[in-house]
Amino acid sequence: MKCRNCEQAEMVETQENYHYRECGLDNVTIVGITIRRCPGCGNIMPLIPNIEGLHDTLAQAIIKKNGPLTAAEIVFLRKSLGWSGADFARHMHCDKSQVSKWEHGTVEMSKPYDLLLREKVATGKKITDYHSEELVWRRNIKPRPLRLKLQKTVWKEAA
Ligand SMILES: [Zn+2]
Repeated sequence: MKCRNCEQAEMVETQENYHYRECGLDNVTIVGITIRRCPGCGNIMPLIPNIEGLHDTLAQAIIKKNGPLTAAEIVFLRKSLGWSGADFARHMHCDKSQVSKWEHGTVEMSKPYDLLLREKVATGKKITDYHSEELVWRRNIKPRPLRLKLQKTVWKEAA
């Protein structure tokens, strides 16, 4: 398969771990997927199966994390619910300017809003093992690295 970028070289397939920055989060690695790499221009094309399932698994990990959601996590969760900024404001009972402040990180989401968002995700995605009372609420907890591995057709967190 020819590279779509330079239209010169043939893409070479390898199995690699992939730092999945496209999801908007900086701490996500996909373990052992097929990546097409152009030896000419360096263009990279990851082949990610079942992206919807991958995003569901990520959403599940995010709502179970300790401490406040980061701006990037809020954006990720909103998108994973398929909501626009206006939808988000409606579901969260706030106005749109508030959404923008949360998503740009200019204002931290207060705990009740944070928990409301997690609850919406848990309900929307039928996540049954989320228990808000188990969360540790401490600031400055760095998001832990998330490593996802495909097991047959289901994305699971890798050890
Ligand atoms: Zn190329």
